[in-house]
Parts: sequence; structure tokens; C-alpha cells
Amino acid sequence: MYDYDLLVVGSANADLVIRVERRPAAGETVLGSDLVVHPGGKGANQAVAAARLGARTALLARVGDDGHGRLLLQSQRAAGVDPAGVLVGGAPTGVALITVDPSGDNSIVVSPGANARLAPEDVRAASGLLQASRVVSAQLEIPLETVVEVVRSLPSGTRFVLNPSPPRPLPAEVLAACDPLIVNEHEARVIAGGELDGSPEDWAAALLALGPRSVVVTLGAEGALVATGEAMTRIKSVKVDAVDTTGAGDAFTAALAWRLGAGSSLPDAAAYAARVGAAAVTRPGAQESFPTAEEVESL
Ligand code: ATP
Repeated sequence: MYDYDLLVVGSANADLVIRVERRPAAGETVLGSDLVVHPGGKGANQAVAAARLGARTALLARVGDDGHGRLLLQSQRAAGVDPAGVLVGGAPTGVALITVDPSGDNSIVVSPGANARLAPEDVRAASGLLQASRVVSAQLEIPLETVVEVVRSLPSGTRFVLNPSPPRPLPAEVLAACDPLIVNEHEARVIAGGELDGSPEDWAAALLALGPRSVVVTLGAEGALVATGEAMTRIKSVKVDAVDTTGAGDAFTAALAWRLGAGSSLPDAAAYAARVGAAAVTRPGAQESFPTAEEVESL
């Protein structure tokens, strides 16, 4: 009945990475390595993560009519994502300019570009995609009013999953639609308005009081916490040798959204997602690190 297991509404960026001996101070020029360009952005990452696991996935996003936009479209297609919802034009493709020093510390400048032009009317024009999708997931690298429109346009019976990253306070209307709201500690703090004491269970209780139907707190190597009005369940992480945690949150969110759509309970979906997140940290990069279902199985 549904054409897509998951529709991701979100950002698509080109990550431009240069390794340097020392990050430049104001007014300074330093020489760096050859430029490496990776497809990224939380929306594009989540779509690739879900498709690699075998989910029938679509992406609603906006890229520029430029080389970076074509790279993003090509990486979505290569992963098996249906890019029919990727709009082209209006501004250059979003870019993250990243310099990394030998200790791994980085400096990042983000130009949202076309991501900032993904507008509420783009969501209304994509109503067919929303109707065809069992679960819709979003993040906050696109305008908040666009996420509000997603919530208003959700067909009845379609589940909504939000990872509010980068975090900002959310309108009650958006919070009420989240099932679940997926946050790390920093995001939990911002959504809760800065006040957050005690254990992850306390944070989850504070967040639930704001209206989401359920909350998942991701805890890195410590796993995750699943909270509903009825129960709180700790999800253990899988012990792995972590190489690079970039994209772990995106892989976790995509996997959880997909499993929920397939009928898993929230704790079961989170346990699967924790395995996917663990697999993703064993390899460098974001999209390059996302596992297939077979790789998750053999973890
Ligand atoms: P991101 O860096 O992508 O923003 P995040 O802070 O949103 O990540 P994390 O909590 O770091 O999310 O990771 C998401 C999930 O991935 C965790 O809940 C956990 O299940 C798994 N995970 C992350 N890091 C590790 C690790 N070192 N070992 C095992 N599992 C991990």
C-alpha cells in the first residue's frame, strides 16, 4: 500500500574537507592537503543509511544546479534512494567547509545555500510523496517553518520521527507530532530550554512533559534510552572499536524510523538502531560508513 518505507525531509550538503598542520588564525593563510569532497547533510545521510539497510527510501530536499548538487543526486541514486523529491535550483548547494588538524580538531563553516530555500510550499507540492510513505523523518538543517508544514501535511497513520539537530526550541505543534523525538544530551538540553539535571531518565521525563508521544535519548557508547508515557527502557550499545563517530546519530535515526515502519516496537527498533550506529562508528566518514543489513547481522 505504501511505495516508501521512509521519506526523509532534510538537508543535503557537500562536505569540503582539507587537512591542515594548523588551523589558520584571523588574517592567516595556511597550506593544506588536496581537497576531498564528501556527500553529506543530515537529510541526505539519513536517506542513504536507510536505503543501505534495504528500506524503500525517498528524499525531499533542495540542492543547487551545480556540481555539488549533481554529486548529491548521484550518491543518493547509488545508495538506492529515490531522488524524485530532490528539487534543484534557487541557490547554490549547501556546503560545509571543514579544516581538520592532526589532532582531529576541526573548524567548520556552513553555507546552508539551497537547504535554506526548501520551503513550506515545496512540502505542499510533495503531498504525493508524503501520502506514499509509511514513516517521515526530519532534522533541523532546513527552515523550521518547513518542518512545521511537514507536521501539518502528515497523512493520518503516517508516523513522524524528528532528530532536532542542530537544536532549537520547538513549537508545541511539532513536539506533539514526534513519535519519537530523538535527541543526544546537547539537543535534549536546548529543547528543554537549558535546564536539565539528573540522569537521562530525568531528561526524558522532562522532554515527555513537553508533549512528544515518545522520546529516545542517544548516549554514544552507552547506548540509548527509550521513553514513553508507560515505560523507560535502557538500550545497551554493542561493544566495537570506534574509529569515527561522524554520522552515528544519522544512521541510528534512519534505522529506528525504518524498523518502526516495519512494525517493530520502539525498544526493538532502538536496539536494532544501536547495532546500526555501532557498525557506523567502526568505519571513517558518514555515508561511507553506513552498514548494509547483512553487516548489521554479522556484528
Ligand atoms: P552524531 O555525532 O552523529 O551527531 P549523536 O550524538 O546524535 O551523533 P550518538 O549518541 O553519538 O548520536 O550515536 C547514536 C547511537 O550510535 C548511540 O545511541 C549508540 O547506539 C551508537 N553508538 C555511537 N557511538 C558508539 C560507540 N562508540 N560504540 C557503540 N555504539 C555507539
